[in-house]
Amino acid sequence: MNESGRPVRDYFRDLYLTIKTILIGMRITLKYCFAKTITLQYPDRPPALQKRYRGFHFFEIEKCIACDLCAKACPVDCIYIEKTGARKIDKASGVAKGGAMTRYAIDYSKCMFCALCVDPCPTECIHMGNIHDLSGYDRQSMIVEFTDLAKRGLQTPEPLWMQKERLPDWVDQTRRHWRDRAEPVRGEMVKALEEQPAGK
Ligand code: SF4
Ligand code: SF4
Repeated sequence: MNESGRPVRDYFRDLYLTIKTILIGMRITLKYCFAKTITLQYPDRPPALQKRYRGFHFFEIEKCIACDLCAKACPVDCIYIEKTGARKIDKASGVAKGGAMTRYAIDYSKCMFCALCVDPCPTECIHMGNIHDLSGYDRQSMIVEFTDLAKRGLQTPEPLWMQKERLPDWVDQTRRHWRDRAEPVRGEMVKALEEQPAGK
């Protein structure tokens, strides 16, 4: 025992663990120091994103009941929801009816991509997407109005550069995938912006 009452062997064990963890960290650092560097020719080539990558959301507005649970779960209060009345899922069609969705927006200048908004959603209509890029000229353009996107048949924002005419093939495929995914529910997306009494 030393004066503080801790066995001497604890002292040496802590010393050993400290040196060991530093060496493990340094081994990883050194591995990357001497690894071959690779320049990815983005956007000519697609970025290598993992399947579970958390990018800009994609939102199925036709299934949203405007319950605010996602907004309440958001640690930085960056989800804004406005509606004209209560909405609930119509069991026959599987889409939400009732009041109109007048606003569903996310401020990406604040969003941390933590996905805490996704789990509480009772209708599983808000998802983390796979787009990592949303350039803009001011902070205001970082606020994505998903209700405006729904009018254009979009569920996720398209970066400005993706709206150019000549694009690499992978971008065309990505945009086509997004549009094909939304196409079957496009009519319902627009209806979500209007009041729809349940049962109609
Ligand atoms: S990902 Fe996190 S920070 Fe972004 S909107 Fe969802 S809860 Fe909020
Ligand atoms: S939790 Fe889901 S259903 Fe509720 S407001 Fe958010 S996205 Fe809509």
